Amino acid sequence: MIRKFISRVLGRKGTGSPSQPAVIGAAQHGLQREQISRGCRRTIETLQEGGYQAYVVGGAVRDLLAGLVPKDFDVATNATPEQVRQCFRRSRIIGRRFQIVHVNMGVETIEVTTFRGHHGEQGGNKAQTDDQGRVLRDNVFGSQAEDAARRDFTVNALYYDPTAETIIDYHHGVADLKQKTLRMIGDPKTRYREDPVRMLRAVRLAAKLGLMIDPEASRPIREMTDLIENVPPSRLFDEMLKLLTSGHAVRCVTRLREEGLHHGLLPLLDVILDQPLGERFVMLALESTDARVGAGKPISPGFLFATLLWNEVLVKWELLKRRGEPVIPALFQAMDEVLDVQAEKLAITRRIVGDIKDIWALQPRFEQRSGKRPYGVLQQPRFKAGYDFLLLRAESGEVDQAVGAWWTDFLHASDEGRAAMLLPPPGEARKRRRRRRPPADSAPNLPE
Ligand code: ATP
Ligand code: MG
Repeated sequence: MIRKFISRVLGRKGTGSPSQPAVIGAAQHGLQREQISRGCRRTIETLQEGGYQAYVVGGAVRDLLAGLVPKDFDVATNATPEQVRQCFRRSRIIGRRFQIVHVNMGVETIEVTTFRGHHGEQGGNKAQTDDQGRVLRDNVFGSQAEDAARRDFTVNALYYDPTAETIIDYHHGVADLKQKTLRMIGDPKTRYREDPVRMLRAVRLAAKLGLMIDPEASRPIREMTDLIENVPPSRLFDEMLKLLTSGHAVRCVTRLREEGLHHGLLPLLDVILDQPLGERFVMLALESTDARVGAGKPISPGFLFATLLWNEVLVKWELLKRRGEPVIPALFQAMDEVLDVQAEKLAITRRIVGDIKDIWALQPRFEQRSGKRPYGVLQQPRFKAGYDFLLLRAESGEVDQAVGAWWTDFLHASDEGRAAMLLPPPGEARKRRRRRRPPADSAPNLPE
């Protein structure tokens, strides 16, 4: 047992297939080691000096080859987490299910992962699965070949060695990327069953990289969408957040619909996209998010989820008001109901829930444009987000454009300008209207 473990850790020839990778030189792949962050390079050099194998792996290699700037640089190695830790003073082991090491290099934190083993029957380490085949535990170390085989898509299973400037490619990932194809490693149906989130990853990565999902991998999605229901809500939330903040949210959501993945999977998209007003509002929100990501501006997940769920709030709010609930308590009740239902499928973190509620709660306050109230609204800590939200509502036709325009003017006006803009208090307006009404005896006989 121990010998088997050690041989796995040391990366003896594994059972992964194919076990003979292509070794692609710099002249062919075109990457330069300077494109790898300094911290990542130093981490790899240190591990190599310690006698271990170490590579940049996953999304970073893929993105660089595709001409994109990677979000972060991850390292894969045959050193165990404990061995990695001994190589770096400023490092710590995290995670219980599968330990990884965070190495601090200046401002960078590099995630170092030990090659993971095969969890299929071939490797003799049958993974624990639920009755749908979803892998619950996946925590064996393995060889590099095994590590490559358990990654999802061929373009994600590339290992770059910045010292030798070579790419180790077990599954023709470089060729697939050149041919703009997102291909699953292994049998797509089995791989989706092991982890249904891979269906969402397929959509997101295809949109991000402008790839076509290989028909073998896209065909089974339609019949397997229900498997998403087994995914823990927190995992689903992380993936949705990645998808919505990828800078290609419009493309991703359009693709999710084409694949039938928006039904059942995401209650929020399910309802919204099937209503014309809701669809317009959400698409406008996603367009503006994509534009912000494209311009390198920060985006707020709270704002994003507030837009995605707003239509449901509106429907419930209306229902409660019709039942005679006062306006504001009805809104708060609608907000809670929508968020409760949502929480069952998608575990929106508590901090984000707070942001969402702040944005929604401000909405009726924008209707109040008399007296001191607009000044109070301006002082709200979440004013800017609430105001942006109001503008989207106005643009989508849900509220009067004039309300949005009034707030834009009010925001930019001088003190005197603001005072002049205030509307008469609602009571005053009613009194004035009454005063303007002709005397009762001259009124036409209208039915009461
Ligand atoms: P990005 O960072 O752009 O979101 P990524 O592909 O790097 O995309 P990560 O979640 O950072 O995504 O994962 C890093 C690598 O881990 C992937 O490139 C892939 O090799 C592997 N991986 C991630 N999720 C899965 C999964 N569900 N199944 C198999 N391999 C996965
Ligand atoms: Mg990544």
